[in-house]
Amino acid sequence: MHLTDEQRLIQRHVREFAQAEIEPVAVEHEQAGRYPRDLIEMAAEADLLAPRLDESVGGAGLGVVSSLLLNEEFHRADPGIGESVTAVTFGCEPIIEYGTPDLVEEWVRPACRGEVVSSVAMTEPGAGSDFAAIETSAERDGDEYVLNGDKVFISNGSVADVSLVYARTSSPEEPHRGLSSFVVPADADGVEQTPMEGYMGPGATDIGQVYLSDVRVPVENRLGDEGDGFYQAMTFLDEARLDVAAACVGAARGALDLVGEYVTEREAFGGPIAEKQAVRHRIADLETRLGGARSLVYEVARDLEREGEVDAARSAQAKLLATTLLEDVASEAVQLHGGYGLFDEYRVETFFRFSKVPQIYEGTNEIMRTVVADGML
Ligand SMILES: Cc1cc2nc3c(=O)[nH]c(=O)nc-3n(C[C@H](O)[C@H](O)[C@H](O)COP(=O)(O)OP(=O)(O)OC[C@H]3O[C@@H](n4cnc5c(N)ncnc54)[C@H](O)[C@@H]3O)c2cc1C
Repeated sequence: MHLTDEQRLIQRHVREFAQAEIEPVAVEHEQAGRYPRDLIEMAAEADLLAPRLDESVGGAGLGVVSSLLLNEEFHRADPGIGESVTAVTFGCEPIIEYGTPDLVEEWVRPACRGEVVSSVAMTEPGAGSDFAAIETSAERDGDEYVLNGDKVFISNGSVADVSLVYARTSSPEEPHRGLSSFVVPADADGVEQTPMEGYMGPGATDIGQVYLSDVRVPVENRLGDEGDGFYQAMTFLDEARLDVAAACVGAARGALDLVGEYVTEREAFGGPIAEKQAVRHRIADLETRLGGARSLVYEVARDLEREGEVDAARSAQAKLLATTLLEDVASEAVQLHGGYGLFDEYRVETFFRFSKVPQIYEGTNEIMRTVVADGML
């Protein structure tokens, strides 16, 4: 794949960081179920935490392609740590786009330095794919809004210092027009954040629940106009899905790398299993599909860079293709490791458990099919 000299430099920088700092501690983090605060600080020092955000707000000011290269390499090294490091500034783009300069100073700059963790709280116990059905309310009271409701499955949910909360500001008769987004500090009165236990995904991530009980935020913490929340969220997700697709390509690369190492070392029936044609063909098929998915992801990324707007159907295609590829790669990676594949020390089982996660968040694969079909038909 063609990369500019600058993009190659960035790729090498993040790859060296991931190989030196993330890979050696991946099993330890996974086994301890540890959120990687130390690695987040190190990534910030290496200017790898906010690749796409503008330099004027503290980001690295890189293009879309470069930022996807970061996502890819972090997830290649370890999907759990990769998720946590790349999600620190998750809620920042909408704050920059629709928020006041004060909100940017208060939250975005510190997030770029790794001092603040952000989250995006859309999903509720009764509304996931059907986002317009959320019930969290935001009622205007003078110069403030009062928020009440519960949010579930929130990435960084229990560790975030600030959340971008989507809530209903008008009646449910207008499901799409009735939503607005608010910047809610975690230490505001009435906010409670708890980790969600029993999660199947990687241990180095935080998935939490956020409870809002009479939480008061100033009107200035509303992003954009009242009633714009649903449309802001859809624009945000259309782009964010490309990040997920790049993460899956990276994780698939990481799992295939582990397979390559293992099958050349493991011997059976008098030689390395890498010499068996049945093994070689399976790896060749996956390698070929990985190349195809990667090409699509970066083609859509280049279009986004050129046109400044993402094609929703194509970013959904990229996410659908990359997530299903990752599941197949990760499953084969476990299989080709035999019994060892089922133990965390060999790491492929982490990739396998992770592979279901991106098929569900930021729009399930069924919703991706709907977006693709809507674009086509
Ligand atoms: C690890 C993880 C991290 C997450 N992080 C965040 C986060 O940071 N912020 C946030 O707000 N949310 C987050 N989510 C929530 C995620 O976006 C939702 O789980 C997702 O949108 C699906 O919603 P649901 O779980 O309620 O499932 P449902 O919407 O109830 O779906 C259940 C099943 O029905 C299918 N389905 C639903 N509607 C249709 C339809 N119209 N056509 C066909 N099939 C359909 C779905 O595809 C799925 O298979 C996260 C989830 C996970 C697992």
